[in-house]
Amino acid sequence: MNSGDEMSEATEIIIPDTQGEETIADLVRKMLTLIGEDPNREGLRRTPERFEKAFRYLTSGYRQDPEKLLNGAMFSVCYDNMVVVKDIELYSLCEHHLLPFFGKCHVAYIPNKKVVGLSKIARLVNMFARRLQIQERLTSQIAKAIQDRLSPEGVGVVIEARHLCMVMRGVEKQHSSAMTSAMLGAFRENKQTRDEFLSLINHGKA
Ligand code: ZN
Repeated sequence: MNSGDEMSEATEIIIPDTQGEETIADLVRKMLTLIGEDPNREGLRRTPERFEKAFRYLTSGYRQDPEKLLNGAMFSVCYDNMVVVKDIELYSLCEHHLLPFFGKCHVAYIPNKKVVGLSKIARLVNMFARRLQIQERLTSQIAKAIQDRLSPEGVGVVIEARHLCMVMRGVEKQHSSAMTSAMLGAFRENKQTRDEFLSLINHGKA
């Protein structure tokens, strides 16, 4: 699916005035010194500021309101078949190591009079992903936000992701990925509904 509109609505990065207090960039300079690097050498000179900017972007989800996003984008329909948005690209930071985990998120729901634009689902996923997360909580936060705002018959969310904290440290085999799911309403109670969702997202996979 096309999530191009997400790029055009790029989040503004706010670097607050710390009024003489230490900045994230200052702390990164310190960190570089502590590992024996010279933060003043050419290649590293602007790294602390770059890191701060990137880190603030990757955690910008704290300043965004999922309710606002969904409320402004809901519309009424007479449609009660399953809506599936699959293969939403997802990038997040694990809260235990501040290292990326990334993969795909699949979302499905059965509308109860209200639906939301497909691209909003992708934006919702990334809004929650741009907070420090663990994969299980990210999965259930997405499901709960959809349940709360759309009051559908049910919601299913599946995330498959690789965690660099595991892959890079050799904790897990290099190609292993973690899979988490959150099933609410009909997706929890009705095996047929759940199986339909799972078979739709597995379709076309090796
Ligand atoms: Zn981790």
